[in-house]
Amino acid sequence: KVKQLGGAGFEFYSEEMQTGSLERLKMENDLRKALQRDELCVYYQPKVCLKENKIYEAEALVRWNHPESGLVSPGSFIPIAEETGLISAVGEQVFVQSCQQISAWLNKGLSIKVSVNLSAQQLLHNDLVSFIGDTIKAHKVPAHLIELELTESSLIEDPERTVEILEQIKALGVTLAIDDFGTGYSSLSYLQRFPLDILKIDRSFLKEVTSADPQQATLTKAIIALGHNLDMKIVAEGVETRAQLDFLKYQHCDYAQGFLISPPVPAQTFFELVERYNA
Ligand code: C2E
Ligand code: MG
Ligand code: MG
Ligand code: MG
Repeated sequence: KVKQLGGAGFEFYSEEMQTGSLERLKMENDLRKALQRDELCVYYQPKVCLKENKIYEAEALVRWNHPESGLVSPGSFIPIAEETGLISAVGEQVFVQSCQQISAWLNKGLSIKVSVNLSAQQLLHNDLVSFIGDTIKAHKVPAHLIELELTESSLIEDPERTVEILEQIKALGVTLAIDDFGTGYSSLSYLQRFPLDILKIDRSFLKEVTSADPQQATLTKAIIALGHNLDMKIVAEGVETRAQLDFLKYQHCDYAQGFLISPPVPAQTFFELVERYNA
């Protein structure tokens, strides 16, 4: 079959495949080592409460401190972690580090709620609920300071089981957010079907909010209204301009997250930022 592509095509194709799988294999091996050597760290990006103009919350975003490549962003290794089944181990480390950080901030007199991203595989992992319960207890983290971010695609993989798991997580006192809302196979009915507290509008929608004509941001307005009607709080992701922030405030969006406020930063930088911002 491949040979029918002709000599050059064959060469090109097979070479591509080899490089791809070799790189993949190297990344998988490196990632295994990274998990053992504590090379993963967590950055925190603030979410501003728009009503009070204060920071009480952050999203935890994993970074890989690679010995050769430096800081690697999750976009390049999360997909491979998912394919190789390493994502559960990655996710557990991120969750533990986030709990340690919440606890450390509490000891410094700062109460920050942290949302942690969860992949589909983690969600369907048998021990997830007990892992979360045990970890927050071990680090003396109040459950209301933990939020989990789920994507639309991870919810629909096994909806019945997912509803059960999510109810158990909620029973611990942890809150649940739907991430990147509007980008998945959106069936709106799942907003009611799953016990979700927070709706995060995907940053692609924010692009329609320009200073030129913010009133045209029809979809963003509609999503905010939809979420509020379902008793959810709304977070806008990817807020990069003052015009977007003003628009979101005007539309009674609850939280804003984006480079305008701050990119994801290390824990110590986050602490200093919040002290300054909330002063
Ligand atoms: P996400 O959960 O939607 O996280 C938001 C992403 O948008 C972050 O990218 C953040 O740096 C970026 N971002 C924030 N504000 C702005 C902005 O104003 N403009 C733009 N253009 N981008 C902004 P990051 O940290 O590279 O993470 C990418 C994705 O990787 C995350 O998207 C999430 O899906 C995944 N991810 C990150 N950490 C974890 C993790 O611990 N576990 C799992 N399963 N996935 C993770
Ligand atoms: Mg997220
Ligand atoms: Mg998101
Ligand atoms: Mg996103």
